[in-house]
Amino acid sequence: MYNELNETKASPFQEVNIGYTTKEAINEAKRCLNCKNPLCVQGCPIDHNIPGFINQLSMGNIGAAMQILNEKSNLPAICGRVCPHEKQCQGHCILNKKGNPVNVGKLERFIADFDSNMLLTKEKLVPKNRGKVAVIGSGPAGLTVAGDLARQGFNVVVFEWQKEPGGVLMYGIPEYRLPKEIVRREVKKIEALGVTFINDCRVGDQITVDAMLEREFDAVFIGSGTSVPKTLTVPGITLYRVLQSSYFLRMVSLYNSGGINRAAVPLIEGEEVAVIGAGNVAMDTARTAIRMGAKKVNVVYHRTIEEMPALQTEYNEAVEEGVNFLWETNTLEFVGENNTLKAIRVEDPEGEKLIPMNRVLIAVGSKPANRIVSTSLGIEVNEVGYVITKDLPYGMTTRKGVFAGGDVVHTPQTVVLAMKEAKMVSKGIAQYVDAVKLLSLSE
Ligand SMILES: Cc1cc2nc3c(=O)[nH]c(=O)nc-3n(C[C@H](O)[C@H](O)[C@H](O)COP(=O)(O)OP(=O)(O)OC[C@H]3O[C@@H](n4cnc5c(N)ncnc54)[C@H](O)[C@@H]3O)c2cc1C
Repeated sequence: MYNELNETKASPFQEVNIGYTTKEAINEAKRCLNCKNPLCVQGCPIDHNIPGFINQLSMGNIGAAMQILNEKSNLPAICGRVCPHEKQCQGHCILNKKGNPVNVGKLERFIADFDSNMLLTKEKLVPKNRGKVAVIGSGPAGLTVAGDLARQGFNVVVFEWQKEPGGVLMYGIPEYRLPKEIVRREVKKIEALGVTFINDCRVGDQITVDAMLEREFDAVFIGSGTSVPKTLTVPGITLYRVLQSSYFLRMVSLYNSGGINRAAVPLIEGEEVAVIGAGNVAMDTARTAIRMGAKKVNVVYHRTIEEMPALQTEYNEAVEEGVNFLWETNTLEFVGENNTLKAIRVEDPEGEKLIPMNRVLIAVGSKPANRIVSTSLGIEVNEVGYVITKDLPYGMTTRKGVFAGGDVVHTPQTVVLAMKEAKMVSKGIAQYVDAVKLLSLSE
């Protein structure tokens, strides 16, 4: 149970998975067989040269290992922590046949952390004379586009709605899985490439895409993610103490960073909590609720355990920390008194039940907001609100010069998939800006 572990820990939000020591990392790297046809690379969405960086690490060349990581990723310390390695690189490692795959993610994390702590590598700054690009949103997609374009000689300005850059990395994924200092450190590295960040600026309100293109920018990238949470259509959904998990996670993150006080976090110690949904966001919500002092946390899911969308490791850790799971349980109604939640009415294979409950946190997905596209001309979205893009130039929307990528373009996925797409879009943006400049020279 988490509470027993907690007594020996400084903070309940301390990082759960501890990194390698140098000796452990090198020993783990030495286990890599350096396969001729490395399956791990096939499992990596951004085609990292995994045997390459592991081989350098195994010889103690951590700077050289970092240079290999930098070739494909702007966020290795983050991917090393939050990528679903069990399905990707590690899941494809040939040593799975012996039940002991190389722990690729933990090695990636070790190299990135070591490099930052020891200030090993420093990237060369290139002159910014190829054009000016506005990036909207600073999640993994926006950060990747910003970093890649800055390295290629573009002047990049990032416009971010929140007080700090990072998107879901900063305000969604909890501190105990991804410490916010790590996110800040990775953002600083992108800033050091010459990227400007304008925070606390909501595009669509303070500035529009039209204005960006009219004034100074050659192209705009929309990486605004999915900020509108989906909800349930059941009676009692508007009761006090029934709220969205995204709001809860954001408030906890702000509390942990010292931005708000404890009373502003929507969970009172000792409450019994129901989390609706069983994806990774639901696991994060349940485990965060336990850390904020909930007496009992129940994950309520209408399907079976086999159909749960959460990663097995996330589920296992939630179980270890004492989260209770109600499978094949349909939520029928939130029952209140004086407009405040008192219970949830559910139906499981045994029939209907009323379970007393102090708080409900809904984690059933999210979709894009329409603030950016509704305040500018010609950017079309599909019937669900995802921005429509094309393949040539890659990532361009129905409006010339406006590109999009990451979760705003397709159903929410993962950090590394948002990065993968953003890398392709940054190439599309570079091609577009170069072509427009060439054409204007020939006019
Ligand atoms: C709680 C949670 C846990 C997750 N855990 C994992 C995990 O462990 N591993 C994993 O791989 N994936 C995980 N994911 C999914 C992953 O985080 C997303 O797929 C990824 O962040 C998408 O990146 P993005 O850049 O497209 O969008 P986001 O990260 O959502 O970033 C969008 C940014 O745009 C900004 N923005 C929005 N509108 C505007 C506007 N009008 N003006 C200016 N800025 C704006 C937002 O503030 C935000 O900073 C998790 C998601 C959540 C919600």
